Amino acid sequence: MSQQPIVQSFIAGQWFGKQADQALLSPINGNTLFHTHSDAIDFGQSIDFARTKGRQSLLSMDFQSRASCLRDLGKYLLEHKEALYQLSTQTGATRTDSWIDIEGGAGTLFAYASMGRRELPSGNLIHEGDAMPLGKEGGFYGSHVLVPRHGVVVHINAFNFPIWGMLEKFAANFIAGLPCIVKPATSTSFLTEACVRLMHQSGCLPEGSLQLVIGRTGDLLDRLDGQDMVTFTGSAATAAKLRTTPNLITNAVPFNAEADSLNCAILAPDVAVDSVEFDLFVREVAREMTAKSGQKCTAIRRVLVPENHMEAVAERLTARLAKVTVGDPNVEGVRMGPLATHVQQYDVLNQLDQLLKTSTLISGGRDGCQPVGDGVEKGAFCQPTVLMSNDPDAEGGAHDIEAFGPISTLMAYKDTDHAIALAARGKGSLVSTLVTNDPEVAAHVVPNLAVWHGRVHILNEEASKESTGHGSPLPMLKHGGPGRAGGGEELGGIRGVTHYLQRAALQGSPTMLSAVVKEYVRGGDTIETEVHPFRRYFENLQVGESLLTHRRTVTEADIVNFGCLSGDHFYMHFDDIAARDTQFEQRIAHGYFVLSAAAGLFVSPGEGPVLANYGLDNLRFITPVPIGDTIRARLTCKRKIDQGKVSPKGEPQGVVVWDVQVTNQKDELVASYDILTLVKKLSVG
Ligand code: NDP
Repeated sequence: MSQQPIVQSFIAGQWFGKQADQALLSPINGNTLFHTHSDAIDFGQSIDFARTKGRQSLLSMDFQSRASCLRDLGKYLLEHKEALYQLSTQTGATRTDSWIDIEGGAGTLFAYASMGRRELPSGNLIHEGDAMPLGKEGGFYGSHVLVPRHGVVVHINAFNFPIWGMLEKFAANFIAGLPCIVKPATSTSFLTEACVRLMHQSGCLPEGSLQLVIGRTGDLLDRLDGQDMVTFTGSAATAAKLRTTPNLITNAVPFNAEADSLNCAILAPDVAVDSVEFDLFVREVAREMTAKSGQKCTAIRRVLVPENHMEAVAERLTARLAKVTVGDPNVEGVRMGPLATHVQQYDVLNQLDQLLKTSTLISGGRDGCQPVGDGVEKGAFCQPTVLMSNDPDAEGGAHDIEAFGPISTLMAYKDTDHAIALAARGKGSLVSTLVTNDPEVAAHVVPNLAVWHGRVHILNEEASKESTGHGSPLPMLKHGGPGRAGGGEELGGIRGVTHYLQRAALQGSPTMLSAVVKEYVRGGDTIETEVHPFRRYFENLQVGESLLTHRRTVTEADIVNFGCLSGDHFYMHFDDIAARDTQFEQRIAHGYFVLSAAAGLFVSPGEGPVLANYGLDNLRFITPVPIGDTIRARLTCKRKIDQGKVSPKGEPQGVVVWDVQVTNQKDELVASYDILTLVKKLSVG
């Protein structure tokens, strides 16, 4: 019987696993920390629970309420973060490493909560509008909608980010309304388990929305169907194996992979040895080599340097790395911990041997690592190691071998085109950094890097003060690269959510489309009542409620007055001779006058539930309005979004988007736009 606690799975709403199986050893001193469990999981039951209970509980909420739930979950995790920090040390992580994992994970929840509340509608359907007419009569329109898939998503994660790795995927699939089954890498699964326990205790997790698998996945992938999905982070070899699981191919189960990546950093030729940028380059490379002991999918593996600067870069990088104290992260002053496991240490040192066949050791290496701390001689340490490629143009070497530890290879290049060619030899990476202070160099190099990299980070002194760094994937920017990097995409703002939704094209009459997308589509039926739409509270306002205003003839006085008021005396409005030579052949009213006049036509001036006008989208001036034309406006409630917000005075409010069409006396569209207003609600919630 094991003396150590057993890391448990969370299946069908129950913590599961009593029999000890694999021992999880401390990478710091080799002591046994935990055991996985050997009890077999019934994956049929797990999937069934996700598809029934999980789906039901998630879809009883909507995009907006799930986003709010994520925010509460993030807050709860931060309130309990110290317990996670303590456990994280046992993975070999320093406090800074753990910060990326724990607070980076919670930060991703907050970022998705706020993007979801800002950008997603109420309900469980996203209209990817605007609808477009497909015929000449206006009776047949086309558009796109996104709806939550009917399945479950299986996340298979890597060992290096036990918390962030789970949360960055979970945030997006949760908002999308899909239940998930998370399988963390076994070696650091105890930390993921602790995080899931907190998430469960928070009371914020709808039943069945998240299950946790410790250990093997058994027949899980064989049970998935075309509504399910798999996302994977780990080695390219495992990605290749899993994505070709016969059942996934037969049922066209989407498989998103983020795998090994031979990311590079390029020092541009314009950067002088005594410049700030030169120091920034060395600092960035050193930081990426040592953060998480180089066990980051984004770490810089290849360092591309102009031939004439190679010596200086090697010298400064070696000097910087010499200051990094390696050892037990619990010991003060330690800046780099061990690798995550003894297996990783074995692999990384073997990969170092392979790399040394095509490169020269500059500093570090297999021997001479002297970690600090008790019992560290049994730990999985590897010191920061710099290599220099003997022939960067040769096949193999650092262009092919990923040593997933604090090891980077310097490569000399002749000119920028040579650097571009070497960068591409990674066959597709997650990220590259270009350090340059010359916009022309950036403009030439970056499009070539962008073909091969999921993200390109341009660094100079100006950007450095706020740069989030080469190695940090951000929730609002895409994470994932082509080719060797797995070809997948994660994060990237709301784009990350849409990966978990099913897109369908939609065709039909505007009235039908309006009913489906819960958004007014032009040409659809409108609702006209005696009550001005601005006099209705949020709850009472119906999508499609519309007002056709009285008319107003535009006069020369209007143009003159507006010009004097705004200071806009553009010749088109004031110079009769110049205006005659233009395509309009006469003076026309300011576009902004038309907007203002339209507001004057449709606004209900008295005090009422409309609290504020906070923006305007999709504005187009379509037909010019010369002196003597007569305009009117149609204002229609297009979309309502309930973000559960209150005004600074404590009044509950929702967002209402209004479709505005301004027409002239020939019923031609003069201006078209959406206005966004905050409208008072009758009640909270
Ligand atoms: P693996 O690819 O072996 O494992 C990644 C995940 O896949 C783990 O959760 C693992 O579970 C799981 N897995 C492995 N085999 C199967 C299977 N047959 N069925 C279902 N799940 C499976 O990567 P490692 O974690 O072992 O790391 C190996 C190398 O991968 C590293 O040295 C590095 O080169 C690369 N890597 C890349 C990362 C990236 O983000 N791009 C991150 C981490 C690693 P289990 O742990 O139980 O085996």
